[in-house]
Formats: sequence, structure tokens, C-alpha cells
Amino acid sequence: MKLLYPFAKRFIAGPDLTTALPAIQRIRESGYFASIDILGESVVTRSQAESAKIEYLKLFESLGNINHSFEFSIKLTQLGLDIDRDFCAENLKQLARALGDHTIRVDMEGSSHTQDTLEICDEVHRSHPQIGQAIQAYLLRSSNDIRHCIDNGISIRLCKGAYKEPAEVALQSMDKIRTNFFNLACQLLKEGIQPAIATHDENLLVELLNFIGREKIDPNSFYFEMLYGIRRDLQKTLKDKGYRVRIYIPYGKAWLPYTLRRLAEKKENLLFVFTHLFRETFGLRKLR
Ligand SMILES: Cc1cc2nc3c(=O)[nH]c(=O)nc-3n(C[C@H](O)[C@H](O)[C@H](O)COP(=O)(O)OP(=O)(O)OC[C@H]3O[C@@H](n4cnc5c(N)ncnc54)[C@H](O)[C@@H]3O)c2cc1C
Repeated sequence: MKLLYPFAKRFIAGPDLTTALPAIQRIRESGYFASIDILGESVVTRSQAESAKIEYLKLFESLGNINHSFEFSIKLTQLGLDIDRDFCAENLKQLARALGDHTIRVDMEGSSHTQDTLEICDEVHRSHPQIGQAIQAYLLRSSNDIRHCIDNGISIRLCKGAYKEPAEVALQSMDKIRTNFFNLACQLLKEGIQPAIATHDENLLVELLNFIGREKIDPNSFYFEMLYGIRRDLQKTLKDKGYRVRIYIPYGKAWLPYTLRRLAEKKENLLFVFTHLFRETFGLRKLR
């Protein structure tokens, strides 16, 4: 899997905080907002979950003296959801208590975790309103979940969804997912609490910008969010138009599952990896 690292480097800011910090600072200084993710998921022991929590606490501390509010993205299986639900909820509460002026966005994982993730987020949000939630437009249940979050004052990041899901729980055709994304995004733009519209889909963004203009939505009432290393041209265009753009910046050693999801999203990515492997295997380097 080491061979995938050249590809992974396009999407992650580094293997640790020291290497990631300059990228985080560069993004901040260029006028973007940041959502920082320490890579990791599906941990199987309590000590792994504890270590993840400690890593986040260290991150909060090291960014504490920068006069800017950050968002932190966290996966609940990284905090022990697969081990013990209450232990995981307690870990999230501990992080929330240490947040200060920053916010946490709970990433949404595969559909077997959706209900628990929403319930834990709901529970922690009652005492810590800086906790927000990601919702996937491909899930059939998302319209109800969004209604619940809006009614309870929970901020939402809307994304299409990155996991392979069966037809019983998720839309399968890209057209239907895009339509559902558009409808849910319009609802969030009108009624949501500082929602984040997370997509690099240019056609969808054009349609949403038309909606925003038509409905006179205040640009300071929402964020556009994109992933580190993807469609930097769109990130800049939206920022230059005066919209708030937040970049999801992952870093850390557990880069493989995240990288595999990015690999699956675009055919050209597979080509990049195969070309790289081919060059390495057959020694086709240009520089000798
Ligand atoms: C900020 C943010 C947070 C997210 N959080 C979650 C989450 O919590 N849970 C979850 O399931 N999913 C999450 N995702 C991933 C999301 O669900 C999609 O899988 C991903 O964003 C691709 O969908 P898209 O809307 O960008 O559209 P697509 O139609 O997939 O892509 C549109 C265009 O974007 C570019 N692009 C997209 N992906 C790639 C790639 N991997 N490599 C190169 N170019 C690419 C291409 O130019 C492509 O044509 C998140 C995405 C973002 C932007």
C-alpha cells in the first residue's frame, strides 16, 4: 500500500501536525476557512480511541493561539463507536468541552452507523451547540434527518455520500442523487443553521448559485465546502465571488481508507495510480 502514497499526498496535508500546519496556515492566509480532520476510523480498542481523542486535544491546543475559529471533522468510529456507544459519546463530550470558540462537525460514515451517529450528535449538541453533523444526500432517510436537525438547531454539512450503499437505503443513480442534493441544499440554504454545501460538482454549484441569487440568500449564512486538493479552481472562484469557502484538510498516518474513497470517486485517479505503478515497476523514470 506504500505505493499508493504518491496518490494520497494529493489529498492529505501530511502525515502529522508538524507537516500539516504550513498547509493549514497557507489555506487560512489565502482567505479560506478550514475544517481539520485527523485521519482515522473504525478503531477496535479503547486505547486507539483514547489516542485519537488525545490527538484532537493536542490539535485544539496548538491552534488555540491562532486568532481564528476552526472547524474540526471527526468520525465517531474513530472515537470508539464500534466498541461502546456510551464510551464514544463521552469521548465526543470531552472534545466538545475543550473546544472553546471552535466547532466540531461529525462526519457521516456507512449506513450501519447513521442512526447511532445522529443520536450521539443530538445528545451532545444539547449541552454543546458547537457540534454539527454531516448528512448524505444519497440516503433515503436524509430528508427526515435534515428536518430533525433544523428543528433542533443542529448545523448540517450536506454531501453526496462516499460509501457503497444498497438500494434499500440509498439512491443509486447519480442523477437522482444530484436532484436530491439540490433540493436538500435549497432547504438548508433557506432554513438551515450555518449549513455547509459540500460538493465539487460544477453543474450543481451553478444551479445553486442561481438559486442563491434568485432567493437573495445572504452569503454569510452558509459555507461552501470542498476537500483539500480537489478543484482548487472552483474553491478560488467561489471565494473571489465573495462566498465563504471552507476546505476540509485531512492529515495523519491512517490515510489509506480516506485515499481509497477518493480513488473510487474518479476514473482518472485510477489511471494516475496505474501510471505511477507502471513507471516504478518498469523503472520508467525521466530523471536518473
Ligand atoms: C467538505 C466535504 C466533506 C465531506 N464529508 C463527507 C462525510 O462526512 N461523509 C461522506 O460519506 N462523504 C463525505 N464527503 C464526500 C462526498 O460524499 C463525495 O463522495 C465527494 O465529495 C464527491 O462528490 P461531489 O459532490 O464532489 O461530486 P462528484 O460528481 O463526485 O465530483 C464532481 C467533480 O469533482 C471532482 N472530484 C470529485 N471527487 C474527486 C476525486 N476524488 N478526485 C479528483 N477529483 C474529484 C471532479 O472534477 C468531479 O468531476 C465530503 C465531501 C466534502 C467536499
